[in-house]
Amino acid sequence: MKPRNPTRPIFVGDERTGIVQIGGGIAPDHALAKGLSGPTQPAPVSVQTMTAGYTHDIDKCVAEIHKLTAAGADIVRVAVPEKKDTEALGEIISQTSVPIVADVHFHFKRALEAIEAGVHKIRLNPGNINDRKQVEAVIDACKDRGIPIRVGVNEGSIIERKDKQARAKELGAVFSDQKHGYMLSIMIAKLEEYLDIFYERDFYDIAISAKSMDATVVIDAYTEIAKRFPHPLHLGVTHAGPKETGCIRSVVALGSLLSQGIGDTIRISYANDPIYEVEDGLELLYSLGLRERIGAELIACPTCGRIQVDLFSLVQEVNKKLEDEIEVPMKVAVMGCVVNGPGEAEGADVAVFAGDRKGIIYVQGEKVATVGEEEILDRLLSECKAFQDKVRRGEAKLGEKKVDIVPPDPMGELGSGWEKMAAARMGHTELTIEGR
Ligand code: SF4
Repeated sequence: MKPRNPTRPIFVGDERTGIVQIGGGIAPDHALAKGLSGPTQPAPVSVQTMTAGYTHDIDKCVAEIHKLTAAGADIVRVAVPEKKDTEALGEIISQTSVPIVADVHFHFKRALEAIEAGVHKIRLNPGNINDRKQVEAVIDACKDRGIPIRVGVNEGSIIERKDKQARAKELGAVFSDQKHGYMLSIMIAKLEEYLDIFYERDFYDIAISAKSMDATVVIDAYTEIAKRFPHPLHLGVTHAGPKETGCIRSVVALGSLLSQGIGDTIRISYANDPIYEVEDGLELLYSLGLRERIGAELIACPTCGRIQVDLFSLVQEVNKKLEDEIEVPMKVAVMGCVVNGPGEAEGADVAVFAGDRKGIIYVQGEKVATVGEEEILDRLLSECKAFQDKVRRGEAKLGEKKVDIVPPDPMGELGSGWEKMAAARMGHTELTIEGR
């Protein structure tokens, strides 16, 4: 992991919603306006998502935003294609408690209306709002209100630009050794050109995105943009598709960039309920150590031919219970057997190792119970809750005691094989050995 790339931070939100800092590491001369001063460290990478319903349907939109906020979204974006959408914004903002971004395409007046309604950030697309006077009007309105702007140069929206040829040729030479050189040249050229309008008006509250549906374009584009512009980067793979494939594309692209210190806020996009975007975005950041985990982390074995309990169902049930009932970031391991289980569960605070319709439960390396398969879920959860209480009372520390489990005798206590082998020896049952 490389350290975070320093950027000029932007601040999204207000006193009521709380202010989310995006980026940082370069002293912000505009931070004073938000009551913040001095050089700032990069903020934790934030997670964004976008509502899927109509913004003008106020009750549904508010309900969706509440759901996404509860799932952990730091910032929520809404589409405002029509005036009835921006007219709904004031009410939506007053009923929600997370910074709201207005996603504006084609109609610069939607941006002005959204700003007037009290939105916390505007997203502009240079591909479809490029009239200089219109862009200047939005910049000036944002400057008056202290609202940042994300400039999003998505591949799909700039590819047909009529003026792309000249600058692209020039820059094409710079990127001639890169697979996506032509695309990069268009994106960089568009950004340079567009941001000049902002700089000329002394406006620097800017975030940049350069999304594509191709994960490799995303990696290359953001890598080049991070070298050239001092602004925080909003990462994303656009139109990533269904969750199953979209997850892989997004994690490959965003994970690669974040591991190189590139990226300050992320949006994973799926053709699915946006709640998954938030959950998977957070999990990506937890996995990279870029956010402090909230709630338990579940480690589970993939199972193999040694398994003697219904581990898949158990893992699903444990996962659900942990999500609902554990808030402390403890590590919990659910392992299928004692052969590799203890080693793989190293570092877990609470662990269960299954055997022949049984499970042995450990808490920070200490064996606390051996229970039948049907009791594993309840007992494991009660041990997790008891451990959570101890942590809260200051009587235990997370990850403090390294798990040093002496594997129980697989032929003995758990009965993994012993009974079968003993029975076979006594001639009570047949022991089938492959190849004999
Ligand atoms: S923990 Fe045991 S059951 Fe699970 S994958 Fe490893 S060896 Fe197989």
